[in-house]
Amino acid sequence: MLQLYNTLTHSKVPFTPRDPKQVGMYSCGPTVYSTPSIGNYRAFFTADLIRNVLKNLYNYPVKSVMNITDVWHLTSDGDTGEDKLEKGAKKDWLTAREVAKKYEKEFLDGLQQFNIERFDVMPRATDHIPQQIAMVKTLIDKGYTYIIEGDGIYMDTSKVEEYGELMGPNYKKRLENLNAGERVKMNGKKHATDFALWKFSPKEETRQMEREFPPYGMGFPGRHIECSTMSSQYLGKQFDIHHGGADHITIHHPNEIAQSEAAFDLHHPDRRVNYRVHNEFLQIDGGKMSKSLGNVYTLTDIIERGFSPLDLRFFFFMAHYRSFQNFTWDALKQAQTTRHNLQKKLTTTTPHDTNLDNETIKQEKINNPQRKALAEPLSDDLNTPKFLSNLNSILAKPDEKTLTIIQRFDKNILKCDLFQNSNTTNAWEKTAIPSEILTLANDRLNAKKEKNFALADQLRAQIQEAGFEIKDTPGGFEIKKVR
Ligand code: AMP
Ligand code: ZN
Repeated sequence: MLQLYNTLTHSKVPFTPRDPKQVGMYSCGPTVYSTPSIGNYRAFFTADLIRNVLKNLYNYPVKSVMNITDVWHLTSDGDTGEDKLEKGAKKDWLTAREVAKKYEKEFLDGLQQFNIERFDVMPRATDHIPQQIAMVKTLIDKGYTYIIEGDGIYMDTSKVEEYGELMGPNYKKRLENLNAGERVKMNGKKHATDFALWKFSPKEETRQMEREFPPYGMGFPGRHIECSTMSSQYLGKQFDIHHGGADHITIHHPNEIAQSEAAFDLHHPDRRVNYRVHNEFLQIDGGKMSKSLGNVYTLTDIIERGFSPLDLRFFFFMAHYRSFQNFTWDALKQAQTTRHNLQKKLTTTTPHDTNLDNETIKQEKINNPQRKALAEPLSDDLNTPKFLSNLNSILAKPDEKTLTIIQRFDKNILKCDLFQNSNTTNAWEKTAIPSEILTLANDRLNAKKEKNFALADQLRAQIQEAGFEIKDTPGGFEIKKVR
């Protein structure tokens, strides 16, 4: 049985879906105002891992949703600061809409390079403004809100049962300290934890992104409301798993829970979401990633240093998702070497019977000790380091059946292309392929999928003109520098 650590209960608990015929999961996606960092990829990786284990190990029909935040977030998780998208637009001399489009594409291309299949629904915040307004109206009607003149419509968190419980067993004490107001600027709020559901546009400023909310005039949604509206639209009022990075445990997710449970009249113990799952942060050289330290690395940086995105994927697999993981270039090199060694070992003894019939698979599931050795750690709160060490142990005496099992795990969950030869695949591991060329190659792959062969040919010509050769492979493509 699958066990997951639930931030709601602060414990590891068995996973029981509301309805085994459809498991619903929502994951907080990127704000598309800059290229996602490798830290963000740890979050996308975790969402993918949860989805793959549910779907491919437990055979649950999963509906997965990851939002794309393409609007109106202020630089702080609170309700102050500059709008991230407007700031990004100024930096790049683009409109906020163009900024969002550009980075959304980078994000989607990145998922592909990282062997993450698209989530079933990837809704954009800007396409759901009326729904966000409707939810704010509901909260106004139910008496949960108050207005701060010239600022916005705020949620009164004192009216919410157990507000902030995600923060841990002593959350009430923490909140009391917050409310004592030592370091928190109240700016007219009644309680330190109250937050904006809707912000009024500043009168003296024209914003690129704003919307009319009668009778309040022009404005834009608060930081948290989009996740409540989009998750309920696609997964219903109640669903199974809500995932995000650990930074969301203190503000974004307590607020998301407060507003949505209030809007839908849900009260303990009948929760909107039963499992709240958070991945811990990726650190760089033992500290925080930050622009000022110049260590906000992206997939392009990884590729330019001669790594494959799948080396990073393998690196993530080496740590448990709930532990801090420290990124250094040496550690990534180690992950790459381990991955290449596994590839070498596995490609020299490729199994023949990869298409076992259902009955054999069923028997194998029950009895096979090698399969157990791989499935059990994943079932134990996604213990990927233990999975890898068991993988090593069962590889000490590999037989054909073991290899078949490993191949299935690699195809469905690990997704690190362990059965491809590291000498011939992922040419970018050998020569750094510039990101523009990879983008062209990804566009070409998409064009082919959409059967737009004219565009695919045109993109191939562009790639060749730039001095690269592209070849199709079952998993995608290979690129080589030819001059
Ligand atoms: P953002 O684009 O900042 O909204 O983040 C997208 C997702 O990445 C969220 O789930 C964040 O919690 C997560 N995230 C951001 N930085 C990191 C990091 N350094 N390590 C792990 N997850 C992160
Ligand atoms: Zn969210």
